[in-house]
Amino acid sequence: MVQRKQPRHRAQRPEVTAFARACGPGFELLFEQNPLPMWIYSARTARFLEVNEAAVQAYGYSRNEFLAKSLYDIGPPDERERLRAELGRRDCRRTGFRRSQGWRHLRKDGSTLWVDIHSLDLHSRGAPMRLAIVHDISEMKRSEEAVARLYRMSTVLSGVNGLVVRARSHEELFREACRLAVEKGGFLLAWILVVDGDRLRPVACHGSVTAGLDTIGAALQGRGLPADSPVAVALRTGQPVACNDIDRQPGLAACCAQLGVSGVRSSLAQPLFVGSRVAGCLCLYAGETGVFTGEEMKLLGEVAGDISYSMEFISRDEKLDYIAFYDPVTHLANRSLLTERLAQFTRAAREVRQQLAVLLLDLQRFGAVNTALGREGGDAVLKAVAERLQGVAGGPANLARVSGGQFGIVVPALKTLEELTGTLQDPVWWNLGGPIRHGGAELQLNARLGVAIFPDDGDEPETLLRNAEAALQQAKAQGERFLLYTKEMTAAIHERHSLELRLRRAQAHGEFVLYYQPKLSIPNGRICGAEALIRWNSPELGVVPPARFIPVLEDMGLIVEVGRQALREAADAVMRWSAQGLAPLPVSVNVSPLQLRQADFVQTLRDAIGARAGRNPHIELEVTESMLLGDTDAVIRRLRRVREMGVPIAIDDFGTGYSSLSYLPKLPIDAVKIDRSFITGLADNADTMSIVSTIISLAHSMGLRVIAEGVETHEQLRFLRMLKCDEMQGFLISKSLPEHEFVALLRRMQQAPADAPSLGWLLAS
Ligand code: C2E
Ligand code: CA
Ligand code: CA
Repeated sequence: MVQRKQPRHRAQRPEVTAFARACGPGFELLFEQNPLPMWIYSARTARFLEVNEAAVQAYGYSRNEFLAKSLYDIGPPDERERLRAELGRRDCRRTGFRRSQGWRHLRKDGSTLWVDIHSLDLHSRGAPMRLAIVHDISEMKRSEEAVARLYRMSTVLSGVNGLVVRARSHEELFREACRLAVEKGGFLLAWILVVDGDRLRPVACHGSVTAGLDTIGAALQGRGLPADSPVAVALRTGQPVACNDIDRQPGLAACCAQLGVSGVRSSLAQPLFVGSRVAGCLCLYAGETGVFTGEEMKLLGEVAGDISYSMEFISRDEKLDYIAFYDPVTHLANRSLLTERLAQFTRAAREVRQQLAVLLLDLQRFGAVNTALGREGGDAVLKAVAERLQGVAGGPANLARVSGGQFGIVVPALKTLEELTGTLQDPVWWNLGGPIRHGGAELQLNARLGVAIFPDDGDEPETLLRNAEAALQQAKAQGERFLLYTKEMTAAIHERHSLELRLRRAQAHGEFVLYYQPKLSIPNGRICGAEALIRWNSPELGVVPPARFIPVLEDMGLIVEVGRQALREAADAVMRWSAQGLAPLPVSVNVSPLQLRQADFVQTLRDAIGARAGRNPHIELEVTESMLLGDTDAVIRRLRRVREMGVPIAIDDFGTGYSSLSYLPKLPIDAVKIDRSFITGLADNADTMSIVSTIISLAHSMGLRVIAEGVETHEQLRFLRMLKCDEMQGFLISKSLPEHEFVALLRRMQQAPADAPSLGWLLAS
């Protein structure tokens, strides 16, 4: 039996069959074989009543699958409303095709198809129907979207450009970059992770989805990153990894699920660099497929470049912060950071009503060590000290290097003072736990400590530090290992400050004057010279002896200028006296070690004695053994040039500094002045006498003159004469006198007849 070929459309829909029949064979040609997708659907239910072959091809559904669906089923949920409205707009009076633009349809495989639709109401018997002709505009839509996306990317890029100059911290940079990517770039989610040692740390996240930093952090920590995940690959290779259709990468889909991100169609892992090192990754997720290609990738590459640049820029800034808050030598906190931390410590202590202690530790003679070992050596010593202190300070947060050889230590949560003084018994606080090795040598450093207690000695960090400093100064002055702050110390510090102020004024106003004390030649009893001794003629304090202000002038460095004036004044006095007809008399001037360390010291002296340099200017210098600390060679060179000018040099306070006399022959000197302490004990202490005797004969063997100072009794003088001491100075003859009194004394002595006993009575008695 021969079967007649059934027309396809007839099968299920009688109304269509009726319509097709009415159309005749033209329907077959117009509908079935049309290269454009077409369908007939119910205007009431939107169900497909018939579809052509081109529609089957375009959408991927079989004809039967189509006929089981409605128009609602081939559009995304968010277009349903529009579709409903469109279907309701039925206008029976209209004839011809109606055009409706920009519909998004989904193929069977889930991909998107953009279409314009021309529809025509079919007037047939029964239910109303429509014929639709579908025009695929996906290509056009795609290029439109690409343009829009490019526009959005460039908005992101210019936003990030602005961030480069604006962002002050990494945190702000990352947060803002993610926000821009989502709000301006239209991404579903953006997040950034940084490589922190061997850890990956998510640092910022922004998105319209539920994923937050916590979720990302947990996801990273949980199972970690699979080695083949885009982020892992991007970090490893330093290349961006794009996935333009997440369905083709099931692993990634799982990742997104783990992050709680839905609707992701494509993603990008874009590495970030600091220098040439991969320092992090920018992760972007988009709701469409095929986003990360061509131009977009180029722009996103630039965005990442900007973020990278900014990271580097901020890192440098943070390095500056580091320098502002940390000591580059020991890597401990510096004074600024210590002050900040103290503020936190005191807040905490206040809350729990506990005390805390601030310790300032000062390395003794650190300046000299630094000079002797050089910068590098000094730094190495500081590092070693810092390490040892860390051991007792209870952690690096409690310790800071405050300045030069000074360290600050915070002892938090202090229950009793006894507890603290107990702690401070540990010898490490004063001998730093024994010698420090440096360059094959062993160096024993000692320390002094000043302590201030919160809240008794202050509740502000600055006050506490200042009071610890006052205690430290006292400890240094009294030779104590440590001292707790007392109110009197502040008074002492205030006094010191006001003294410094007044001394500056004194120098500016010329309040320093020279007094003169005669020196006597022991063999002939005649005045053979004088020592110039400085006095401060203070309008408020009267005549102030040098012991009260010379050490302060030395600390202040002002001694250099005051000493220069003393030299000039003594040289001028010599000239004045000779102009007054007195026989020329050498005047000794005391020179501080600090003056001798000045490179221009020789020139200063030359300026003071003027044209008399090289002849006999009748000026002598008194220097102490402490000048030999530091750069001895330079000092010795200077002393040689001083002697070349005809200026003799005496070592003052001889016997009190170095126990060894072996250095004496190396020095370019002319005389030694035996310290007063030996003269005092001369008459009643056999040991002292033998020391003085040794000094005198040793000095003589080297051709040096010997002067005894502080001679107060005849008995002392008798011994000195016996031991063949050359000259003497002391209250036995005269105190130091103001210039006019001294000149009067000189005149009396010099005008006496040559055979008069002068001061010979002294020697005879
Ligand atoms: P010095 O150089 O050892 O000066 C000797 C000190 O001993 C002087 O004290 C003097 O007045 C005192 N003296 C002298 N004979 C006797 C005595 O028989 N018995 C006692 N008890 N004391 C005596 P002065 O004038 O108070 O000077 C103290 C120190 O000040 C000096 O010690 C010196 O180191 C320093 N000095 C004084 N003038 C200057 C100066 O112009 N420049 C520098 N750098 N230091 C100076
Ligand atoms: Ca002296
Ligand atoms: Ca002396």
